[in-house]
Amino acid sequence: EAKQSGQGKHRFFKRSMNEEANKRLAMLGSLRTALQNNEITVHYQPKVITAHKTIMGMEALVRWRRNGGLASPADFIPLAEDTGLIVPIGRFVLEESCRQTQHWRTASGKDVKVAVNVSPRQFREDDMPLLVREVLDKTGLPPGALELEITESVLMQNPEQSRITLQDLRAMGVTTSLDDFGAGYSSLSYLRRFPIDVLKIDKSFVDDVPDERQANMLVRAIVEMAHGLNIQVVAEGVETKDQLDFLHKIETDYIQGYYFSKPLPPEEFEALLHEGPLVQPFAPYLC
Ligand code: C2E
Ligand code: MG
Ligand code: MG
Ligand code: MG
Repeated sequence: EAKQSGQGKHRFFKRSMNEEANKRLAMLGSLRTALQNNEITVHYQPKVITAHKTIMGMEALVRWRRNGGLASPADFIPLAEDTGLIVPIGRFVLEESCRQTQHWRTASGKDVKVAVNVSPRQFREDDMPLLVREVLDKTGLPPGALELEITESVLMQNPEQSRITLQDLRAMGVTTSLDDFGAGYSSLSYLRRFPIDVLKIDKSFVDDVPDERQANMLVRAIVEMAHGLNIQVVAEGVETKDQLDFLHKIETDYIQGYYFSKPLPPEEFEALLHEGPLVQPFAPYLC
């Protein structure tokens, strides 16, 4: 009896594994052609200066128009990373967001800056800094208006090459940020050993402020430490006014999160950009 149910389980397990594999394969097929078919698109989420609620820039976040909906990166970035498709996709996102940003800068006269996520695989490409140089030349975006977001795993896996790449980028005038800080191993030595300009505090910490004392302490310590090292701080995933007030009090430089805005398609982001300071949720700060 036990043996039979064991076999049944095995068969079931095998079938669902096959289903998973088939789904992945089908997705891979359509992801391969997504770029040519104009299905890859970029949304923008504002980063706001905590002290005066103006937009300093935005994070570019990739989207895939698939089967009449929008697939989120969590659904396809891992597959793209595994298969190397992330390289052409990433190149597209970089060029598209630099082009769009330079257009907004000239059209609005606002000195906004774009932050683009770079996956480990992309970051490891030998000609990464060269690609960035070419995209800046082609789009006319000044290097100082581009930030690249990387994660700690990149630095961990490949410390030597990473340092060289980061140094090349800094020499070019491009800034870099450490994304999801606190979610991984978060070795503090990274901040000392690598030329990093900005630290993004992971949403999992932000979620727990200001109600959990330990989270408050940690976030406060991260901000203080970063500032001591001349590193700026972004809090990501800010959804409530209480979180914002706390982050403001401890002098977090920038805020990103649904409280101000979700990532928006370009037309909607542009409208937001023209509105000026995001005062609406901030009436209390006006007096
Ligand atoms: P990330 O770089 O940490 O981006 C922040 C994610 O948090 C985004 O999810 C954003 O929509 C979401 N978010 C922002 N504020 C809030 C909030 O207040 N509440 C909640 N619940 N979520 C918030 P998204 O766009 O789904 O992207 C997920 C991840 O996919 C990104 O995390 C990044 O690691 C990756 N990704 C996105 N675009 C790209 C890309 O162009 N290239 C690469 N390599 N990875 C990308
Ligand atoms: Mg990011
Ligand atoms: Mg993040
Ligand atoms: Mg994340």
